[in-house]
Amino acid sequence: MTIKVGERYQHLIGRGGCTCIPQDAGMFPDSAIADLSRRRFLATIATGAVSAAAVTSTASAASAPASVSAILPAAIIAKVHAAIDADTPRLLDIFKDLHQHPELAFTELRTSGIVARDLHDLGFEVTEGIGKTGVVGVMRNGTGPTAWLRADMDCNQVRETTGLPWAATQPQRLADGTEVDVMHACGHDAHVTWMLGSARALAGLKADWAGTLVVYAQPAEEIGLGAQAMVEDGLWRRGFPRPDYAFGAHTAPGPVGFVANSPGVRMAGTDQLDITFTGLGGHGSTPEMTIDPVVMAAQAVLNYQTIISRSIDPQSAAVLSVGAIEAGTSNNIIPGSATLKLNLRWFSAEVRDKMIRRIDEVGRGVAIGAGVEEAHMPTRHMKGNAGPLVNDEALVGRVNPSLAALLGPEKVIDDFPAVMGSEDFQEAFRPLGGVPYSFALIGVAPVEMFLNARAAGRPFPYSNHNSDFFVDLAAIPIGAKVNTVAVLSVLAKSV
Ligand SMILES: [Zn+2]
Ligand SMILES: [Zn+2]
Repeated sequence: MTIKVGERYQHLIGRGGCTCIPQDAGMFPDSAIADLSRRRFLATIATGAVSAAAVTSTASAASAPASVSAILPAAIIAKVHAAIDADTPRLLDIFKDLHQHPELAFTELRTSGIVARDLHDLGFEVTEGIGKTGVVGVMRNGTGPTAWLRADMDCNQVRETTGLPWAATQPQRLADGTEVDVMHACGHDAHVTWMLGSARALAGLKADWAGTLVVYAQPAEEIGLGAQAMVEDGLWRRGFPRPDYAFGAHTAPGPVGFVANSPGVRMAGTDQLDITFTGLGGHGSTPEMTIDPVVMAAQAVLNYQTIISRSIDPQSAAVLSVGAIEAGTSNNIIPGSATLKLNLRWFSAEVRDKMIRRIDEVGRGVAIGAGVEEAHMPTRHMKGNAGPLVNDEALVGRVNPSLAALLGPEKVIDDFPAVMGSEDFQEAFRPLGGVPYSFALIGVAPVEMFLNARAAGRPFPYSNHNSDFFVDLAAIPIGAKVNTVAVLSVLAKSV
């Protein structure tokens, strides 16, 4: 199918973004494609590169000898193209609908309902409500391995500024009655659409594969609690077929048509935690009668940064960001407490433990310095947590040749550097003691926009979680095809 791009991005022209809009996603200029050689692409995006020393024992433990891979036959690849090309108008409708109706973590009722209905119609055995909104669909197709394919469903608290015709415009009402702006700024709407496209394609290609396909939609990836919630709600006690392999993918603002699927450590481990300082509230005019938690919180934010620069081995990658400061209500009232919302990124448990220990020490030091009594030292509340994402080397070695056959060899990047971004995809499989998985990054930015950004010295035209993040519609069938081929690389009868 030909996807018209021109009119979709008119609004971006003159905004400092794209000035040369391709008229047809299927007809990018040859020169642009040639210019996008794999090496140059890598050199540009390697800004988030992680040193080899940061790659921990987790990586080596998961590294298995690469297998000699069997490439899917051209006839199967052609069937995948045909099936998903034919389904693309439906998939675009699904995507736009999901995009216009974003739902925050654990409230993905509308989205999960769409997933469940679609999977049910395709003949999957469907179970809903796992970990509040999770959906699992099982399709048994004879003897063979079991592959799990995942999509996450939740959106972000962001006010969309893309101006796209299918932009989200309605705020979401939270349980406490407050309204917040919401947007799919991380592309999870694309993930769901890709998964539904793969489910339909694989249901139609049953004669070409054998085994069991499990597709599932996970809640609450953004807060790092969704996979854990599904596990705690008995994901592995409900009798679902156990995975031999698992697959997932995420949008990335790289060029459409490219996929990065690399072995080993891919993403950092992460923690979300809240630190609360308790002081003594009072009138803003009489600070001497108070212990000001706002000042303590401010001091802590600055002191935390020395944890990374002074306490962590410079050869190890780590990030500590304070994403929110909650304190006070008014100009002239010193509040009783202040809460800092922290996010950590790390690649080794040792680094993680040290960061948490130092956070406690910094907080305590600040509190003591402010005269806080021992009984009111700062408290730490641990929230979401996920370990590093480590792709199985043998499985990636098996999948990538078929992805190269699907997209073209220069479009499959197998040595993409690890990033400080995180996922909780792998947490679903932790209780099973390790399932080999392959998690890919799929380019969703129009090629011309990507090239223009590079020419302007920026690695990407926009980033996930930004209010101007968008998924080029051309990436919708591509993501569905990539996931389908990944699953077929282990389930096809011919491999
Ligand atoms: Zn995401
Ligand atoms: Zn995200």
